[in-house]
Amino acid sequence: MSDVDIVVIGAGAAGIAAARRLSGCGLRVRVLEARQRVGGRAWTLPDPAGIGLDLGCGWLHSAVDNEWTALADELGFAIDTSQPAWSKPALEQGFPAARQNEFRTALDALFERLDRAGHARDDRPAADLLPKDPRWRDLLDAVSTWINGVELAQLSVHDLCRYVDTDVNWRVRAGYGSLIATAAEGLDVMLGSPVTAIDHADRALKIETTRGTFAARAAILTLPTDVLAREAIRFAPALPDKIDAAAALPLGLADKVFMRIAGAHELPIERRLYGATEGEIASFHLRPFGSDLIEVYLGGALARRLEDDDGRAMFAFAVDQFADRMGNDMRGRISFVAASAWARDPLSRGSYSHARIGMSDRRAVLAAPVDDRLFFAGEATSREDFSTAHGAYRSGTRAAEEAIAALTASRQST
Ligand SMILES: Cc1cc2nc3c(=O)[nH]c(=O)nc-3n(C[C@H](O)[C@H](O)[C@H](O)COP(=O)(O)OP(=O)(O)OC[C@H]3O[C@@H](n4cnc5c(N)ncnc54)[C@H](O)[C@@H]3O)c2cc1C
Repeated sequence: MSDVDIVVIGAGAAGIAAARRLSGCGLRVRVLEARQRVGGRAWTLPDPAGIGLDLGCGWLHSAVDNEWTALADELGFAIDTSQPAWSKPALEQGFPAARQNEFRTALDALFERLDRAGHARDDRPAADLLPKDPRWRDLLDAVSTWINGVELAQLSVHDLCRYVDTDVNWRVRAGYGSLIATAAEGLDVMLGSPVTAIDHADRALKIETTRGTFAARAAILTLPTDVLAREAIRFAPALPDKIDAAAALPLGLADKVFMRIAGAHELPIERRLYGATEGEIASFHLRPFGSDLIEVYLGGALARRLEDDDGRAMFAFAVDQFADRMGNDMRGRISFVAASAWARDPLSRGSYSHARIGMSDRRAVLAAPVDDRLFFAGEATSREDFSTAHGAYRSGTRAAEEAIAALTASRQST
């Protein structure tokens, strides 16, 4: 294998952003990606109706400031700026407006308590701030699993309160994953090339892959934390601080199921339905972009319990909850389209990162360079934008700039 200046490991949002930042700098850059596709947790399946089915990221969060929004304009991707279904009242089947208002009040009060607790010296689980009244607990927990991938008992208040959200959420009509994959066009990406070991004892790095070993002056690693924590890459010398930091920032789980409904015109467009308000709860997004699809969201322990290889268990659960709310005749009208299984995916092992209680500072530990040769990016390294595709983008750009500065300095000193 030919040697390069910088190897970027992983062609997800962070790796692609890093490689784009490095291009044109006069450095030889190669991206090594284990999968046979780019995008990582950004992955769009095309639908015959012409919209993209995003199995991973779907929303341009903090959309006005989001770098992917600017790239969408540049690359000719249409952006939908309509109000998200989750910010409108949900369908009233099984959840009348008055009860929805009560729930909204409980949710707002929880967020206010979380905000206040975020400034306290000691971290604590968000579940400590639940109201005494147990009425909305299951639904509050479910909302946390959709946003954070974990229930409130596992959610660090300090970490959550550092997250920055401008509350503007847009979508890419052809799919967020398609946009991110298109941004990789023209980059030197080697697919099907998992990195298995990095020897960083000498000045030149030795990067081992299943397709051979080669040398580089620097590497930018963008692996999901659960993959790094399981030591998918062996470091010599070992990097216990990095492995510990990755383990302190595990990926929570959120999965999607897409289903098609016959006679969709009878259902409202772009509305949400809660599958239940107690027990295990799925969220249904009806008819995105006016299509005949329903996007189902399942998170946390529920998604972990149901995830299987073909999505059938999640689908069966979703059909049951949907029929329970909307009538039994719906059963015969719904067909399976696609489902994700992010926890079973050995190259992700989950959906998005959260900090264990008291561990939010590990994001900075994970992000710190080693010897000006190894640089770390990926959504989990972001203090304020973790768990998002734009956080991944920003981390990739940051790591690329650190690498450029280090290589420029070392060239000047030789
Ligand atoms: C269901 C779901 C919904 C989401 N919704 C949103 C949303 O609406 N908005 C939003 O902003 N974000 C959302 N996210 C989160 C967002 O998708 C991620 O934060 C972001 O895509 C992470 O990018 P990354 O580059 O950090 O990691 P990844 O995308 O995971 O990229 C890492 C890459 O490294 C590769 N890799 C792993 N091991 C190796 C190895 N040994 N050698 C080489 N390559 C390796 C992987 O294959 C992968 O391509 C969602 C995620 C999921 C799963």
